[in-house]
Amino acid sequence: MRVLIVEDERRLAQTLADLMEAHNYTADVSYDGESGLDNALSGIYDVIILDVMLPKRNGFEVVRAMRDEGVKTPVLMLTARTETDDKVNGLDAGADYYLTKPFQSRELLACIRVITRRQNHAADNVLSFGDLRLELSSCQLSCGERSVRLSRKEFEIMGKLMANGAQVVTKETLLLTVWGYDSNAEDNNVEVYISFLRKKLSHLKSTVTIKTLRMIGYHLEVKKAP
Ligand code: CA
Repeated sequence: MRVLIVEDERRLAQTLADLMEAHNYTADVSYDGESGLDNALSGIYDVIILDVMLPKRNGFEVVRAMRDEGVKTPVLMLTARTETDDKVNGLDAGADYYLTKPFQSRELLACIRVITRRQNHAADNVLSFGDLRLELSSCQLSCGERSVRLSRKEFEIMGKLMANGAQVVTKETLLLTVWGYDSNAEDNNVEVYISFLRKKLSHLKSTVTIKTLRMIGYHLEVKKAP
């Protein structure tokens, strides 16, 4: 899971990033509303923690602009202010949850769990496509009786592909989601992992294949019965 933290108080931003990383999230931080919005529009995040009082664009503007662009990533808004007006503004603008500073870590984590669960449909812990099932808690990919455990990166790539089904996931999205902004990973890193995944799919004897769209990206396809 990947989280974007938009917070201009650097110490708090770092604390939040450490907290999320300790709970197995990959965290990116933006220190103002403008770069926060740019990052949010990439659509690569599973959840966004968004401060209200920010330089350049405030949190309300950011969440409204995101929703206008059709980005549905769940947003948890943070504010130091306690007026109900703010709460209403935030929720009206499209935030999913509202937390008033100061807050306890476990309170924040509980909110994140609630809003991310809401987004992932009822069958939370499993993604499925064709004859494949991916267990999110154990990184286990299975097809009928057979199953394999995926490495962290294989898991993140497969999760992204399965969540998008037959829709194309670009190489760029995979690089950003799985390796992150700061990494030096290149297209051929993605290709290497795709080839690992293809081997595992054939080991599982799945009817699902990973199709390459040259220069663009990948999508899943169910092979037709011969
Ligand atoms: Ca602030």
